[in-house]
Amino acid sequence: MSLLPFDKRDGHIWLDGAFIDWKDAKLHVLSHALHYASAVFEGERVYKGKIFKLEEHTERLHDSANFLGFNIPFDHEKINHASKQLVKKLGISNGYLRPIAWRGSEMMGVSAQETTIHLAIAGWAWPSYFDPEQRLKGIRLKLSGWKRPSPETAPVHSKAAGLYMICTLSKHEAERQGFDDALMLDWRGNIAEATGANIFFVFGDELHTPLADCFLNGITRRTIIDLAKQRGIKVIERTINLSEVDSADEVFLTGTAAEVTPVGQIEESSFSVGEVTRNLMDDYQNITNS
Ligand code: PMP
Repeated sequence: MSLLPFDKRDGHIWLDGAFIDWKDAKLHVLSHALHYASAVFEGERVYKGKIFKLEEHTERLHDSANFLGFNIPFDHEKINHASKQLVKKLGISNGYLRPIAWRGSEMMGVSAQETTIHLAIAGWAWPSYFDPEQRLKGIRLKLSGWKRPSPETAPVHSKAAGLYMICTLSKHEAERQGFDDALMLDWRGNIAEATGANIFFVFGDELHTPLADCFLNGITRRTIIDLAKQRGIKVIERTINLSEVDSADEVFLTGTAAEVTPVGQIEESSFSVGEVTRNLMDDYQNITNS
């Protein structure tokens, strides 16, 4: 991955209906989104020049905005078209797209009823989120002290910028202690997810994953549930307690960026990368590259 900062790269970014030069895609410091986190975004993966599950991502982007009380002034068709055009224009074969919608600068206060809603779509080549070598060994997760909030505390089903504040804090703490990522519990103390990916546990020949009732029901999570069922694996969505983790046979994360990433360690508990994880990694690779 290039160390060139993201604001110094070449290419084009789609902004509010037109392609502009990458370096000109700026916003004013007095933008509502910057001060009050009135922004929602997506993370999309490009495989062989095609955006995987584009329709689902665009739908979630619109839904995320609606959860935050605003409408994106571009319909699904326009967003999908712009996204595909961008991939072509940048010549991305394997990469990542980042659409983001936010409230502009007309009002600078908690109330933001009259702000203009902006939409930008950026994209870049990006082969893998986690180090590929580390990936087959399994990543190491540190338990976070931060908890996913209840649906009465935050718009938990929105992919909203503000919800990532505790993810960054958790991940930084994990990295400081030599781990790769953090495992977050929910406000009840049950297992929720990692900082940017959902989590699955293999118990015997069954696949278990926490109920997505206070965090994103990831597009990859849903894809993996389908792929596991196609293999005849029983999938159980349920409350999972931290005390059960040690008895899991395999653990893995799922996400657009993380894809299927095996977990080798959670705190003191170790796991090997087993057959279920490896099969689902293969299935996911096949479906994304088909
Ligand atoms: N949870 C969080 C906090 C995330 O950021 C992501 C990545 N978007 C996910 C779960 C997984 O979602 P998806 O599979 O749709 O990428």
